[in-house]
Amino acid sequence: MKIAIVGAGSAGIFTAYKLMNLNGASVDLYEKGKDITNRSRKEVMSGFGGAGAYSDGKLTLTTEFGGWLTDFIDEKELENLIEEADTIWKDVSGVDKLDSSQNYEKIKDLEYLCSRHNLRLYSAKIRHLGTDNCLLAVKNLQVMLEKSRNVNLFFECGVSDIILENNEIKGLVLENGEKRYYDIVVLAVGRSGNSWMQEIVNRYQIESAINPVDIGVRVEVPRSITDHFTDYLYEFKIKYYTSEFEDEVRTFCVNPGGFITIERNENNLLTVNGHSYKNKKSSNTNFALLVSTKFTEPFKEPVKYGQYVAYLANMLSGGSVIVQRFGDLIRGRRSTESRIRKNFVKPTLQEAMPGDLSFVLPYRYLSNLKETILQLDKVMPGMADPNTLLYGVEAKFYSLRINVDQNMRSKSIKNLYCIGDGAGITRGIIQASVSGIIAANDIIKRI
Ligand SMILES: Cc1cc2nc3c(=O)[nH]c(=O)nc-3n(C[C@H](O)[C@H](O)[C@H](O)COP(=O)(O)OP(=O)(O)OC[C@H]3O[C@@H](n4cnc5c(N)ncnc54)[C@H](O)[C@@H]3O)c2cc1C
Repeated sequence: MKIAIVGAGSAGIFTAYKLMNLNGASVDLYEKGKDITNRSRKEVMSGFGGAGAYSDGKLTLTTEFGGWLTDFIDEKELENLIEEADTIWKDVSGVDKLDSSQNYEKIKDLEYLCSRHNLRLYSAKIRHLGTDNCLLAVKNLQVMLEKSRNVNLFFECGVSDIILENNEIKGLVLENGEKRYYDIVVLAVGRSGNSWMQEIVNRYQIESAINPVDIGVRVEVPRSITDHFTDYLYEFKIKYYTSEFEDEVRTFCVNPGGFITIERNENNLLTVNGHSYKNKKSSNTNFALLVSTKFTEPFKEPVKYGQYVAYLANMLSGGSVIVQRFGDLIRGRRSTESRIRKNFVKPTLQEAMPGDLSFVLPYRYLSNLKETILQLDKVMPGMADPNTLLYGVEAKFYSLRINVDQNMRSKSIKNLYCIGDGAGITRGIIQASVSGIIAANDIIKRI
């Protein structure tokens, strides 16, 4: 059976890994970027190893986040597959211990504390490869695939189109125009392949759906308010369902001692983000607080909606992002330069313009965010202090989601598998790897 895999990120690599040396399978793996020995750190999203290659390789071993695979397979099965993927990563990286900065006893106590206030704390086991070991793991995987007798790797070899006949995939068109024919095609193009995937979906009317859009703010507080969590957890992930709208609000990307940054998106859209340095620390913690919205028919453009909301912040701040004290938001007034200057929490992002987020965020978001901050205050006293800073807008725009079955097979195109972040079903290394294993297992059965 001739199999093509498009994209050599975690998803594509794990499909190939499982098919390696298998009788009856001939596998061609196409990657538009370079191989790992020639790839530079500047090529963050593309090349063997995909977007994960130069990351610090935080493998979150949980079914709860990092993707939506529980929409396709049951939780127990996913747990087993996560274990399988983790074992492979462990073997190729040589990192055989789980992250020791996680104190699992303490985390249980924190979970208990949160449960009293309808806050769900998700504590994932983490295998933290670190940048060096992550790179080593990716190099080892490349060598293993190169040595395999049935896998061919093609680098700097982008795929520009697919070949379809009567809703059945027949092959690929390479960027140089060459056509290649296959029995099975696995698309694993990641986030950098999103717009290509969207084009293909539109061109061939491949069945797809829309992932939720996440809109919210970045919260900045003194470290002392969150240290009793972040000292024991790599990062706290808390979910809360609000009482008024029953919407899901979650914390995301916690940076103890971190800094707020401006993210420059397509079309000059500015959103907020946060990060931390290894050797330079601020006295604040920041994290995103995001409201997930899944729009219903007939509306089909959640990304555009999120962008509009974010544009409002850019417009009102004169081409920047807005910062507001929580106290000012509650009192219904804007923050000003002088109020921010006197504020106890000093902003780590100087370019943010003091303003009023209530002119930006629709009522539903504002109400959800206020309620969640008040709720978080019960487990992290001081969170709802007037001095807490809110930066807007932070938004996460996820891609479209291809409609696939429990084996990652497209529901509308025969012999086409869509996996990983590019298919809109994962958003982390482990679940992307698992989606590759699922596709490979199904292909193996067919062989
Ligand atoms: C800076 C950064 C840090 C991260 N840190 C972590 C972390 O610590 N832990 C974690 O779990 N996740 C992390 N992530 C997310 C994680 O990297 C992704 O979820 C994961 O890589 C998804 O794997 P994937 O195989 O689906 O896609 P990708 O890794 O994006 O790989 C897709 C590959 O397909 C190739 N491709 C795209 N289009 C084509 C085409 N038309 N033809 C040929 N090739 C194509 C691309 O060049 C790319 O190499 C991080 C991401 C980034 C950007």
